[in-house]
Amino acid sequence: MTVMRVAQVTEPGGRFEVVERELPQPGPGHVRIAVEACGICHTDAVFVETPFPGVTFPLVTGHEVAGRIDAVGDGVQRWKVGERVEVGWFGGQCGYCGPCRQGDFIDCRNLRVPGWAYDGGYATHMVAPVEALARIPDGLSAVDAAPLGCAGVTSFMGLRTSGARAGDLVAVLGVGGLGHLGVQYAAKMGFETVAIARGADKEALARQLGADHYIDSTAADPAQALQALGGAAAVLATAANAEAMSATVDGLRPRGRLVVIGLSQDPVKVTPGQLIGASLSLQGHPSGTAAEVEETMAFSARTGVRPMTETAPLDDVNEAFERMLSGAARFRMVLTVGSG
Ligand SMILES: [Zn+2]
Ligand SMILES: [Zn+2]
Repeated sequence: MTVMRVAQVTEPGGRFEVVERELPQPGPGHVRIAVEACGICHTDAVFVETPFPGVTFPLVTGHEVAGRIDAVGDGVQRWKVGERVEVGWFGGQCGYCGPCRQGDFIDCRNLRVPGWAYDGGYATHMVAPVEALARIPDGLSAVDAAPLGCAGVTSFMGLRTSGARAGDLVAVLGVGGLGHLGVQYAAKMGFETVAIARGADKEALARQLGADHYIDSTAADPAQALQALGGAAAVLATAANAEAMSATVDGLRPRGRLVVIGLSQDPVKVTPGQLIGASLSLQGHPSGTAAEVEETMAFSARTGVRPMTETAPLDDVNEAFERMLSGAARFRMVLTVGSG
């Protein structure tokens, strides 16, 4: 039999083991992808470590996948063998729920996420529906493209939907896996960009990524510091820290918006008085559709925005996963597969 290799977990909280499986054939409306690189996202840990609704074991996770189409199923139009494609968090919509009927695919109530709804990219090959595919532009390597399917598109679309316009003051809270991309996108979109992080040691990096200003939230009150700069039209909250998010609300200018993209179980604290007094908005933002992943990658290729990555071969998945979980990775961990 022709085989592929996958890194699978057989039970919640288990370790990855790399095993051979029969190479799957893509069904109607699907393609098979020869994976070149797959990012390791914090959300993968939710699927791997906890019994999560809809997750079945053995599990092959991974939703930041870059590779090449190597087989197409029946009825597939436009997509060809050999094309470079990305599959991100958005792994396909159901087509019949309320948001889908309104054309709001990212809010599909039955969104199919790779590595959750079907086997993901910690593998040499994966099968995906055509709705999930985004073209990777020339000039973007597989390793650079991979994290843009989740971390990249989330930061990019969070800013795009923030209501801020070119020239506005925009703050990015956190300079980590999401924030180091958010700072670059904000700067390249033409915002006066403020990076906010704990401590002084991230300042040099933040400025190198394009920040015009840096606020050390351990040395200064971030809201006061933002008001001293004129008040932010938007804060892109990437740090997974609800308390730090709450501390920026009073740094918004009238009609400003706090855009939350960093995942936390704790409540963001904002009073009705804060919201009403300056017509503020609090907004969540999830990822982006395949078309938006494609736009994110095209923008990145053109403007020079790149994720900072550390790579590891698929066989070292356990070490790479632990490095991501511990927060040691600077900033996105990417598994390399095959020729990637
Ligand atoms: Zn993710
Ligand atoms: Zn739907």
